Amino acid sequence: MSKVLIIGAGGVGSVVAHKCAQVPEVFSHISLYSRTVSKCEAIAADVKKRSGRAIQTGTVDADSVEEVVSLIQSQKPDLLLNVALPYQDLALMEACLTAGVDYLDTANYESPDEAKFEYRQQWAFHDQYTAAGRMALLGSGFDPGTTNVFCAYAQKHLFDEIHHIDIVDCNAGDHGHPFATNFNPEINIREITQEGKYWEAGQWKKIPALSMKKTFDFPGVGPRDMYLLYHEEEESLVKNIPNLKRIRFWMTFGESYLTHLRVLQNVGMTRIDEVEYDGHKIVPLKFLKALLPDPGSLGTNYTGKTCIGCVIEGIKNGKPARKFIYNICDHAECYRETGAQAVSYTTGVPAMIGAKMMLEGKWKKPGVYNTEQFDPDPFMEDLNQYGLPWKVEDRGEPV
Ligand code: NDP
Repeated sequence: MSKVLIIGAGGVGSVVAHKCAQVPEVFSHISLYSRTVSKCEAIAADVKKRSGRAIQTGTVDADSVEEVVSLIQSQKPDLLLNVALPYQDLALMEACLTAGVDYLDTANYESPDEAKFEYRQQWAFHDQYTAAGRMALLGSGFDPGTTNVFCAYAQKHLFDEIHHIDIVDCNAGDHGHPFATNFNPEINIREITQEGKYWEAGQWKKIPALSMKKTFDFPGVGPRDMYLLYHEEEESLVKNIPNLKRIRFWMTFGESYLTHLRVLQNVGMTRIDEVEYDGHKIVPLKFLKALLPDPGSLGTNYTGKTCIGCVIEGIKNGKPARKFIYNICDHAECYRETGAQAVSYTTGVPAMIGAKMMLEGKWKKPGVYNTEQFDPDPFMEDLNQYGLPWKVEDRGEPV
């Protein structure tokens, strides 16, 4: 019986609230706080309607360590679940340390001024968390999060040595808009437009954004073009999977999406620095975010599926092996269950499961950790139970 404080009431926060409410034996008390209380109240009303559970709501500015500390001190939660934006990660980790509570997030820290994400600043909290007897679990979404657990599962059960990992992320859904992003547009566009990067033979290799493309046959979806991007789980997996020789991350994009993105980039709408307009300073990407559809609203008519997984190559019993571990998720089914589309769902469910692992004591040790650093088995069991069933198949052809 535990008390959880969720900060962030976007698409992911909404799914986390719904999924925690479905597991009352673990999450006996749920609070949902964000900048805009009306969003928290709307989610709480929907949770009440679907599961009968009451959720406490309120306002907090997660950029203010003092405000969050005083919220934690008044709420006394067992765990703070951060599903606000990556910009808030450091302030929230600091607040949890000061107020003495465990921490979980779904995305790694990113500075508002530079489109570059890395774990360095969050891992730097490790010694302080260890000394305080507190735990932080980083990146417990799908990718990062579940993809890391898939790798830990492969390491434990399927391989003696893992040599190559290709993380493949396909959203083959149709939301009916000419251009929209499936999670926060600002974060999403910053991620896609930065340089591509992958790790091979002991070093990071950089390539121009979206310049490497391959086709992959996704189960439940069919062949799709996918592009190499840098993604944060590569940084921790390089550290935590021994014998690794190469890791890459791929995401599918349709031609129309890429054409829109190219035009927006060419006209300067994806810039993250301030520009002067009519006596005001504006950040073009923030302005673009205000014009694009709210990702939380995309669920209504979303059809089609996502398929995300890890193609892993290595050695088992002295022989080469190649396996694909993946989940397929259906947008319309997610919407029927939680009122959210599959991208929010595939992030929110692993966030709830990560929180459950910590609160049940299955994943519990002082310090700052990524999800592949724990026993994958209870997490993998819960994926099957709470809406993200997975499969392992032999995969003959290389990516
Ligand atoms: P949204 O932008 O839809 O929601 C973010 C929420 O955080 C909003 O409710 C917003 O409040 C709130 N917020 C922002 N700034 C503050 C602040 N200073 N204080 C308090 N609340 C704040 O994002 P998503 O729900 O799509 O994504 C949530 C997180 O999940 C992001 O960090 C994203 O990067 C991550 N993510 C991870 C994935 C994974 O697989 N690991 C995949 C997809 C997303 P308001 O609306 O009032 O401004």
